[in-house]
Amino acid sequence: MFDVGIVGGGAVGSSIAYELSRFDLKIAVFEKEPDVCFGASGRNSGVVHAGFYYRPGSLKAKLCVEGNKKIKEWIKILKVPFKPTGKVLVAFEEDEVKELYKLKETGDTNGVEGLEIIRGSDNVEKICPGVGGAIACMYSPATAIFSPYLLTIALAETALLNGVKYFLNCKIVEVRKENGVFKLKSQKGDKYECRWLINATGVFSAEFSKLVGIDSYRIYPCRGEYLLLDKTLGPLLKMPIYPVPSKEVGGHLGVHITPTVEGPITVGPSAEYIEDPEDYESTPEVMEKLFEGGHKLWPYFKRSDVIRTFSGIRAKPVPPGDKTFHDFVIKEEESIPNFINLIGIESPGLTSAPAIARVVKEMIEKKETLLPKEKFIPSAPRLEKFEELREEEKQRKVKEDPAYGEIICRCEKITKREIIEAIENPLGAKTLASIKYRARSMMGRCQGGYCMPKIIEILEREFGYKPEDFQLHKEGSWLFSGRMRKYD
Ligand SMILES: Cc1cc2nc3c(=O)[nH]c(=O)nc-3n(C[C@H](O)[C@H](O)[C@H](O)COP(=O)(O)OP(=O)(O)OC[C@H]3O[C@@H](n4cnc5c(N)ncnc54)[C@H](O)[C@@H]3O)c2cc1C
Repeated sequence: MFDVGIVGGGAVGSSIAYELSRFDLKIAVFEKEPDVCFGASGRNSGVVHAGFYYRPGSLKAKLCVEGNKKIKEWIKILKVPFKPTGKVLVAFEEDEVKELYKLKETGDTNGVEGLEIIRGSDNVEKICPGVGGAIACMYSPATAIFSPYLLTIALAETALLNGVKYFLNCKIVEVRKENGVFKLKSQKGDKYECRWLINATGVFSAEFSKLVGIDSYRIYPCRGEYLLLDKTLGPLLKMPIYPVPSKEVGGHLGVHITPTVEGPITVGPSAEYIEDPEDYESTPEVMEKLFEGGHKLWPYFKRSDVIRTFSGIRAKPVPPGDKTFHDFVIKEEESIPNFINLIGIESPGLTSAPAIARVVKEMIEKKETLLPKEKFIPSAPRLEKFEELREEEKQRKVKEDPAYGEIICRCEKITKREIIEAIENPLGAKTLASIKYRARSMMGRCQGGYCMPKIIEILEREFGYKPEDFQLHKEGSWLFSGRMRKYD
């Protein structure tokens, strides 16, 4: 029997697993997908928010401000790519300037450090070169960018190293509580038991809560689509540029232009309520709106700079049309002791994840003593980027292992050794997207046109994959039904 069962292995579930793995506890994480960053945690803006959007006193405000500091510490320890860029919120009209002052007041009250209002186009241009015609901005030095999927992976792999069991492709479909023990059943029929149960299922949190017996929550999936721009533009953009938040959809931060730590730039997200919580479609109409909205903020990109689109789904606790503020729910349910519900963990859920983990830990600590582990390992080893090594070091490595001398992904200059290490990841996640998230293959201009067949060949020849084994991403995203001809 496990002491703690965490359902959902996204950034929130994995942060909780990492935090709790410091203690002498038997912990399990159940994740329905073949990897941990396939939900919202791998499909977002990757911004460490400062905390000026959220109502003073709310959990969102408190946990975002706490999370902003804590996530930066964790990122350093876990060696996750990160840049302390700062961010600007730009105003094009006097009415928007008034909103900037209101946001600064909210931020100051929430304890956000260093917020500054800057007036005049020339001064805005000095802080963030290239902002298209803004008359004022608010500069937030505490905002930063990072790799959200690598953070989620690093948290999960470190938790695993500290004894947490990860069950991938394991959708929990049945929960019963008998004699103080939660009895879980997966879609495949496997059975598990735990004393504490944590609902970290993101956009499925209301549905999972109902499964456990609490039917008082609703989640309304709200899709955010993005355009991804070629990394050649990356050096032109110093920091994320955000508009004054839109009043259209409650809490929507608006279409923004955000650099990523790897170089490409994202434009988005949109905000559109949808029925299916996993409908990741990109639509021509929204792409057009993103192009226009993005251009207003940063007129430096052309249609031909767009290399792909993607989308993420917000776990909104309010229906379309409702513009009221709704807070995160983090609660041990009174009627089901030891069941901790996390509902509506939308933005700033990533930033807040370490603080959410702290709250969950304290909820458990209220009822039992948590004994620190004798030996906690703060970070699992991170894959070394061959391209970032010094020349002599590169030559030494190639001599030792010829797999370093073979470039598999030409756009991102990823070697065969890095691909093999990504395939051999400790979680055992083997889809092409899992390899992509860890090694950065298939992420360049050609989006896998050159390297995907080579990765497939490595999987087939060196890992014994059969054509029917190849999955691109989510369960069921099969690539082939068989082979047309044999190797030479
Ligand atoms: C477009 C967009 C932009 C965003 N930008 C930012 C940002 O810049 N900064 C920020 O701080 N936040 C941002 N957010 C919010 C942030 O991404 C989320 O709050 C955070 O990722 C939520 O993490 P999670 O672990 O709760 O959810 P998820 O990552 O969705 O994880 C939940 C997991 O539960 C699994 N699951 C569900 N049901 C079951 C089941 N029955 N059994 C087993 N597993 C199950 C799912 O497969 C999934 O992996 C953004 C969100 C979106 C959508």
